[in-house]
Amino acid sequence: MSSLREVLNENVREGELYEPIERNRIRCYACGHCCPIPEGQAGVCKVRYNKGGKLYVPWGYVGGVQCDPIEKKPFFHAYPGALAYSFGMLGCDLHCSYCQNWVTSQALRDPNAVSPPLEASPEVMVRDALRLGAKVLVSTYNEPLITAEWGVEIFKEAKSAGLKTAFVSNGNGTPKVLEYIRPWIDFYKVDLKSFDDRHYRQLGGRIGPILDTIRWLHENGVWLEIVTLLIRGFNDSDEELRQLTEFVASISPDIPWHVTAFHSDYKMNDTENTRPEDLLRAAEIGKRAGLNFIYAGNLPGRVEGLEDTRCSHCASTLIRRYGYFIEDYRLTPNGCCPDCGTAVPGRWAEHFEGQIADRPFIPGQRSALSRLISIEPEF
Ligand code: SF4
Repeated sequence: MSSLREVLNENVREGELYEPIERNRIRCYACGHCCPIPEGQAGVCKVRYNKGGKLYVPWGYVGGVQCDPIEKKPFFHAYPGALAYSFGMLGCDLHCSYCQNWVTSQALRDPNAVSPPLEASPEVMVRDALRLGAKVLVSTYNEPLITAEWGVEIFKEAKSAGLKTAFVSNGNGTPKVLEYIRPWIDFYKVDLKSFDDRHYRQLGGRIGPILDTIRWLHENGVWLEIVTLLIRGFNDSDEELRQLTEFVASISPDIPWHVTAFHSDYKMNDTENTRPEDLLRAAEIGKRAGLNFIYAGNLPGRVEGLEDTRCSHCASTLIRRYGYFIEDYRLTPNGCCPDCGTAVPGRWAEHFEGQIADRPFIPGQRSALSRLISIEPEF
């Protein structure tokens, strides 16, 4: 039986986002760490490594696939109701103690995180997505930037089949990786976890590259939505939320901001779950900062209409939601308010076609993806 590390080392290809630097090292540009990687070593993410002066990156597998309503990613202004065929890889460039996908994101750091990968090809995944009626193919669950080359390979196939593509990411990017993915990506969700660099350093990152990614995505016309998981005592002070939402509004007041409820997970078990009133307070701060589209997530039916999309001009309800379920959809075919004609920022289908699912499901027996190998948790 092979270890996870052995399996992953067999499923690689030379990457494109790197250059040689002094003393037999290479510098990787796939995320904001820009690791200088010595010969025989891996970067912080543990899935990209230097062998013989070349950077090897994950290829030919996924950590898992799931079909999600696009509202779960969450995207609320990008093809509402669409089914999002979602794949995750393994590893991450951060190590958040409250990670809600830790089984895959920390698979190479934490012996308790065991997630056998599936053999995959772009053709098989796209065929599977089309068979299930998906409209969007999404790299998600762990950090997609660290497998940007493989993501682009899959997205090329997806786009040639007419699918939309998206990253659900912590936003710890570099100009090089963003330029690299730009031709192949339609939507991008950034998880803006805090507005305090000290908090980001606790999670293993820095705030600077994340804010730069947000600026870059907006300036380059990638549809962007931002999420902040609200954690009591970590990122929920009025002052921090004011700074965070004022920053987003300074990029554009039309960027949707999702403030979502935390529930205890992974190593953060002593923090209380976020309450509806916490989300409502955060939303009020975002409103004062000037944001036009604020959504409160993870507490369906308990957030006073903050799951719905309203016209920023006349306040008419345009899309009514309960959790991921769309109860009513009133946008015109060109994405405008039917009452006052104001255009709603986003990427809209000509017609709302209903939802295949309003909750996640795993593609069943007929899925062509198969287990690469049974692995034992050995590191
Ligand atoms: S993806 Fe980020 S963490 Fe991984 S090797 Fe590259 S720069 Fe380092």
